[in-house]
Amino acid sequence: MSNKGKLRIYYGCMFSGKTSALIQYISEQNLKSNEFIVLKPSVDVRAGKAVIATHDGKTHDCIVFENEMEILEFITPFTKLVAIDEAQFFNKVILSDLKRILGKGIDIVASGLDKDYLGRPFGLIPALIEFADEKIQLKASCTNCGEQAEYTYRKVDNKVLVLIGHSEHYEPRCAKCFSEN
Ligand SMILES: [Zn+2]
Repeated sequence: MSNKGKLRIYYGCMFSGKTSALIQYISEQNLKSNEFIVLKPSVDVRAGKAVIATHDGKTHDCIVFENEMEILEFITPFTKLVAIDEAQFFNKVILSDLKRILGKGIDIVASGLDKDYLGRPFGLIPALIEFADEKIQLKASCTNCGEQAEYTYRKVDNKVLVLIGHSEHYEPRCAKCFSEN
């Protein structure tokens, strides 16, 4: 068991297809249901059991993760892959746990927003990008001009950073259109 797992990260702005890419990747691994776990931060869901779903209807059960939970408790001898959706909301303290998981030969795939609506580095993502083995930046198309977008622009004036489940309040913007506001 000296082989280390690899870390793959999908990052980008809102509407860039990160969750779809994550689910697609999980599906392509052809794992049995006890060989992978999917974690989603509790800030992103109401309560209880949850699924992540893509627009084309594919779903996977997932664990609703609270920051005080121990990620290692969900790892079993069968686990081959840990998938993390909306990873920007995870506390940076889980980085050391993620490194331990990789050290066990388990792969990790994560997706998340690399920049918040002010264009600042967002939570855990920059650190994950830094030590990822495979980094995939996804882009949307700018609502304003149609160019490739890597920023998330907030259409409403609200200073609360986390405005989850209100995707109608955001739109993808290219750097030029983002900075013009
Ligand atoms: Zn634009």
